[in-house]
Amino acid sequence: MTKRIDILSLFPDYFKSPFEQSMLKQAIQKGILTIRQVNIRDFADNRHNRVDERPYGGGPGMVLMAPPVAKAIRSVKAPGSHVVYLSPQGTPLTAAKGRELAHYEHLILLCGHYEGVDQRVLDSDVNEEISIGDYVLTNGCAAAIVLIDVVARFVPGVIGHDEAANEDSFEHGLLDCPHYTRPEEFEGRIVPQVLLSGDHRKIAEWRAQEALEKTRKVRPDLL
Ligand code: SAM
Repeated sequence: MTKRIDILSLFPDYFKSPFEQSMLKQAIQKGILTIRQVNIRDFADNRHNRVDERPYGGGPGMVLMAPPVAKAIRSVKAPGSHVVYLSPQGTPLTAAKGRELAHYEHLILLCGHYEGVDQRVLDSDVNEEISIGDYVLTNGCAAAIVLIDVVARFVPGVIGHDEAANEDSFEHGLLDCPHYTRPEEFEGRIVPQVLLSGDHRKIAEWRAQEALEKTRKVRPDLL
């Protein structure tokens, strides 16, 4: 069954190239993923297609209005849809969250802009808010691309070897081990001999040890 993702934004063109490359492109061509763009501006109810207004209470910036956002969401929402608002105030996007979202057959991703989106439509129509990190982007489009990439890796058939995702960083509470390929020597640096030994048990032990050391050094919080 194809996994459907609707992206609601002010910039549908933003997404043209990312989904026309590599594994996401192939997944779309194979029908494993269907990604559609919804322009929130199409749901404006005024002559100028205006979807933002000044904030009540004053302050800088503009706020996306509730009516066009609600109409945009409801134009694609169906039973079983899961609506995510990309927001710096959301719960952090992790590998575990990506795996969880991969189970929904239909995701609706709302990308904000300006100061954000009127709280009332978030309360009425959004299931959860997700952040891609502790920083603020100019809009939610880049965050939606990151989220789709994370989720897609857990959808069967998207990456070449489905089991590969299970070996990646974070899957066993550790970072991944280092990887090497040809040539055996690069500017005086030699591939660790154990990887050339053909001894699969020793290779697995070495990789586990390297992963542990890297995690200890860079991300002790994971241990
Ligand atoms: N005033 C908001 C705040 O401080 O929480 C920031 C608004 S930001 C300039 C505009 C839009 O970018 C947000 O509505 C959201 O969709 C998106 N965005 C910004 N940072 C993000 C992040 N770390 N993760 C996900 N989306 C983000």
